Amino acid sequence: MNAFKISRLLAPRYYKVLEITKEIPFDVQPNCPCDRSPLKTFCTFLGNEGRDKIRVGVCDACGYVGYIDRPAGDWIRNYYSTTWDAGEESESRIEAETKEYAAKKGSLNPIKLTEEEVLNLGISKDRYLLEIGSGRDLVPKALAKLGYGKIMAVDPSKHRARISEQAFGIKVVAEPFESEKAQAEFRKNAPFGLIFSSHVLEHTYDPGEIIRLAASLQNNGDYLALAFPNIHRERAGIILLFLPHLHSLSPDSLKNLLESNGYEIIKSARAEGNHAVLAKKTGERKESPATSGHIQSTLARFIKEIGLDKTYSSKSRLWWWFKYANHGGQDTLWSKIWPIPLLQYYLYSKIIFRRRFKKELAFSLGEKFAKKPVHYSTIMGAAITDAEKRFTSPGESPIEIQFDGNIKLFYK
Ligand SMILES: [Zn+2]
Repeated sequence: MNAFKISRLLAPRYYKVLEITKEIPFDVQPNCPCDRSPLKTFCTFLGNEGRDKIRVGVCDACGYVGYIDRPAGDWIRNYYSTTWDAGEESESRIEAETKEYAAKKGSLNPIKLTEEEVLNLGISKDRYLLEIGSGRDLVPKALAKLGYGKIMAVDPSKHRARISEQAFGIKVVAEPFESEKAQAEFRKNAPFGLIFSSHVLEHTYDPGEIIRLAASLQNNGDYLALAFPNIHRERAGIILLFLPHLHSLSPDSLKNLLESNGYEIIKSARAEGNHAVLAKKTGERKESPATSGHIQSTLARFIKEIGLDKTYSSKSRLWWWFKYANHGGQDTLWSKIWPIPLLQYYLYSKIIFRRRFKKELAFSLGEKFAKKPVHYSTIMGAAITDAEKRFTSPGESPIEIQFDGNIKLFYK
């Protein structure tokens, strides 16, 4: 019946489990942020005997997957400025990290462009460039080396902003990109010859607003470079249960989003689980084509990947997936009694998977990895049991995931 109950989420290193309580304000995203088509519920999380509900939707037009019910914008923006990557706020830590990053070499790898490709765009070196969500990446440094000295960036995390500012000598606005304060700062240096952003769009409250605002800061002929996770490579468990990835964009999602904001994609690359595009602003807005068929293919994919198409001899199972390799599934859970599931998870990640997937892991993660024990930071899991009943009808929500007590999601 494509329904099961999660009793525990098994978080790898660097991940935490967030209990979704009444204190977190929620709102509704009824439409695809890329082309405004209505989202269709394909999975529902239910907590506290069906009283709490989070719907996950898919866009039939582009294959976008994201939460229909999700924390409100202010909660998300506050999370990125205070919680995400927190715990490193001490002055000595910031100083040490600044030194570490200042010593690193620049890299264009996050936006999947070569030096030659950037230079061939012919952007004048007198113009300003803008990075959305600078985090800790080394793109500004690589661009500075090519002669682009006027770079500004924005990152809501205050201490990350400080580190980039000190390590790379660029101006970083420590605000959410879409905030009025940040936009006012950008307008002082706009239009930007190149706006770039790596692995940010999937975290933002409204990717539609991000691209619309980016377009307002550029002239026709200017460039936009974006990188984000490839929805076809990212594991179903992460797409569904990792809250900070509010959006999973397909290649069609991005095409619709960019074309409706007056951009034309001139390069599209997929590598190492990422998808990167380079777009040029033409100013010509295109209507999104009325394609369809993504609901059925997305549903079929998730059912197969989670392992809901199989019959199992045991009611209690360990649902697991590798974060970086194309494997996952369900195995018999040794016992429901805590901490046996944790012990099983640990032994699986350290010993059993190393033997079982030696070849596959070497193939997807490299030979070096295959020789080492599979570190438990590379697998994620959940202790699950078959659901005794459903709270939604299969028509309402083809997949149903119930939780013991509150709904729980992974975060960092
Ligand atoms: Zn869509």
